[in-house]
Amino acid sequence: MEQIAYVNGSFVPLSEAKVSILDRGFLFADGIYEVAAVLDGKLIDNASHLARLERSVGEIELALPETTARIEEIQKELVKRNNLANGMVYLEVTRGADTGRDFAFPKNVKPTLIMFTSTKDIINAPSAKTGINVITVPDLRWARRDIKSVALLAQVLAKQAAAVAGAGEAWMIEDGKVTEGGSSSCFILTQDDVIVTRQNGSEILPGCTRKAVVALAEERQLRVEERAFSIEEALAAKEVFVTSASLFVQAVVSIDGKKVADGKPGPMTNRLREIYVEFAKATAV
Ligand code: PLP
Repeated sequence: MEQIAYVNGSFVPLSEAKVSILDRGFLFADGIYEVAAVLDGKLIDNASHLARLERSVGEIELALPETTARIEEIQKELVKRNNLANGMVYLEVTRGADTGRDFAFPKNVKPTLIMFTSTKDIINAPSAKTGINVITVPDLRWARRDIKSVALLAQVLAKQAAAVAGAGEAWMIEDGKVTEGGSSSCFILTQDDVIVTRQNGSEILPGCTRKAVVALAEERQLRVEERAFSIEEALAAKEVFVTSASLFVQAVVSIDGKKVADGKPGPMTNRLREIYVEFAKATAV
């Protein structure tokens, strides 16, 4: 059966899901997106994703065309219509289609809201057992990375470089420090058992999974430090991992071809992954 997508109020077959060539998402990347995981047909940490959506649209003065409560209803309806057990719901809101290509905000134009789903068995992904290799690239992005903008060209190039190198993620570097992964937040576990992840700010996206993992670790009296770290520090660490909605907690076993510790996912990474999965299942909606 063909996938169903959502476009501006209608559920339609994916092949018929279309927006105008004048849509500002297409012309200017003038839009915001979110990705929430689905486990057993339920949305994971969705309140956090919707809160970030509200913040992102607020930062670019874009009014959501629906309330977040209605957006969640649409997400759920789409999951149901696609019989989605495990995977992701992607949603995007743009400033809509004007009659031309003026840069300044158009007046009286309704924002575009689209959603589609994809299938992924996040829990049993093979990389959860093996870990992934990462490469490093310069961070070429704009100065407001805290906004989850659809302007992702720098990440497209970073992740293409990773794909060519046979790596699962690209870590972006600025001023000698790791900012974040192309689509993930970065963590290390130091030799004295401190979990380190870069502090939120305009340099990185405030990851929803990062936020949950930090809170879950702190609840368990694990030591967490939010600060920037270098690749040298990561290579000297006990463990390295990334987090995202579509990976949960995922071990990193090499960086630029150099092994992290013994080149296998470590016990803290495995433990945090289990803790996160437990949290995800217990709070799914
Ligand atoms: N950092 C960037 C640049 C991302 O694109 C993403 C997710 O797509 C993340 C971090 C992880 O965020 P989350 O845990 O909310 O998926």
